Amino acid sequence: MIESGDQRDRWRSELELLVAATHSWAIITLDAEGRIDSWNAAAQQIKGWSAEEIVGRHVSVLYPPEDVEDGKVERLLARAREVGTVEDEAWRVRKDGTRFWANVVITALVDDSGRLRGYGKLTRDLTERRQLEVDLQEARAAAEAERRVAEEARSAAEEANRAKDHFLSTVSHELRTPLNAVIGFAQLLAMEPLTASQRDAISHIEKAGRHLLDLINEVLDISRVSARTLSLSPEPVSVADAVNDAAAMLTGAARARNVEVLIASDGAEHVLVDRQRIKQILLNLMSNAIKYNYEGGTVMVRWMEDQGRVRLDVSDTGAGIPAPLMDRLFSPFDRLHATSTDIEGTGLGLALSKGLAEAMGGVLSAESTVGKGSTFRVDLPAAQPPVTMLEHRLPEPARMEASGVHAHVLYIEDNLSNAHVVERVMQHRPHLELVHAMQGRLGAELARQLQPKLILLDLHLPDATGEDVLHEIQGHPATSGIPVVIMSADATPGRVRRLLDAGAVEYLTKPIDVPRVLDLLDEFCPANPPD
Ligand code: ADP
Repeated sequence: MIESGDQRDRWRSELELLVAATHSWAIITLDAEGRIDSWNAAAQQIKGWSAEEIVGRHVSVLYPPEDVEDGKVERLLARAREVGTVEDEAWRVRKDGTRFWANVVITALVDDSGRLRGYGKLTRDLTERRQLEVDLQEARAAAEAERRVAEEARSAAEEANRAKDHFLSTVSHELRTPLNAVIGFAQLLAMEPLTASQRDAISHIEKAGRHLLDLINEVLDISRVSARTLSLSPEPVSVADAVNDAAAMLTGAARARNVEVLIASDGAEHVLVDRQRIKQILLNLMSNAIKYNYEGGTVMVRWMEDQGRVRLDVSDTGAGIPAPLMDRLFSPFDRLHATSTDIEGTGLGLALSKGLAEAMGGVLSAESTVGKGSTFRVDLPAAQPPVTMLEHRLPEPARMEASGVHAHVLYIEDNLSNAHVVERVMQHRPHLELVHAMQGRLGAELARQLQPKLILLDLHLPDATGEDVLHEIQGHPATSGIPVVIMSADATPGRVRRLLDAGAVEYLTKPIDVPRVLDLLDEFCPANPPD
């Protein structure tokens, strides 16, 4: 492009005006040695020096001393000479010695023959942006540190909870075995001819044993709920079935206190819950409604579905709970006013029920009026009824084959104390003979030879797991039709479900309930089998 001298002069003066007017960019020029040639108003504003003070001085006066010492100024200029333009973002120094964060672009200026004439230098003050970045970084680092501390605390708490859960489950397992003997033998002794005071003493032993067992089970469950290690198997459960089952189990308690239990709904509502745990909640609420009721009082259970939830109320006509005590209702071990009565309890049932309800997506709440009674409400997620209901039925042939005259029952169990309890139970059914195997494989072998009418199977055996032994029994044509009852101290719902699904006809938890064992013997090995 050919320019006239006039044109060039005009452009130059326009450019000078532009340079002078810009106030966000310091625009300066340097000679080939790096000395300052020109200095605009913005440069004065940003850096503090006037043009008179600074022109002629070397550009390094604008850099922090450590950069000058380090040779940074020379390096930047050399790089600009090499590649044309360099950009730098770093600290620079004002006249008063303070620093500002600068974005700098240095361009080498060369004439037509390629000779270096000097440098153009544009500088912006980005201190504010830089400060924001620093603040943001610091805030991020602080948030990250906080998150890490919280994470560490959480994993330490989880670890402590796991250790506590493990400890409690070990202790509870160890406590259940001797309790098995205490309760089992007390029940057996109660069947003997006894004096009134002996009977009274035995009933105390059994009652204390059961209380201890309730405590162990509830403490274990509460600790699992709080450690979130409770395993739940949610499925659609018919509310009517669950309430009827609980009511049936409480018939004796209701009769003893002359309390009438009314089930005031008959809807087909289902809830999405763990079958055993909902029963546990209902048993607790309904047994409380019976226990804390007046003689001749009433318990009313009713439920309704509303917007995807089922609300179930257990109401009683008891003395009610004074308002100042309501806050303590769900605290573990707090029995409120019941400590001064002879009503039995652990003070754990409501705390556990609340934890269980919450673990299943529900809410447990209570209302009470002194003198009128209390209502406990469980609010649970509703579910569609299941299409098919799976039921555990005993295979027909085994029922038909049951010979009542003389039959064997095989007990596969390595603990002698447990075996003694069952031996004594069997003495009440003289048409049956107990054969005891202390190892799993041997037990399965014995079952093939002996063809017992019933097999009682422990799960912790020295040579095999109970599950393996069950599979072996079920898998062999000679034993596949023999009903197997699991007897174990391990009552984790998942395990119970697995073994029932695998074909066990019943899962009894230790300590064994003698009347329940006798019922099973009568069911599977009747003395006079039907023709
Ligand atoms: P407990 O084993 O003592 O029955 P719970 O946790 O089930 O323990 O209940 C805690 C306390 O709440 C009871 O000891 C009793 O004082 C009070 N309570 C529970 N249910 C009722 C009720 N339906 N009526 C009156 N008081 C109740």
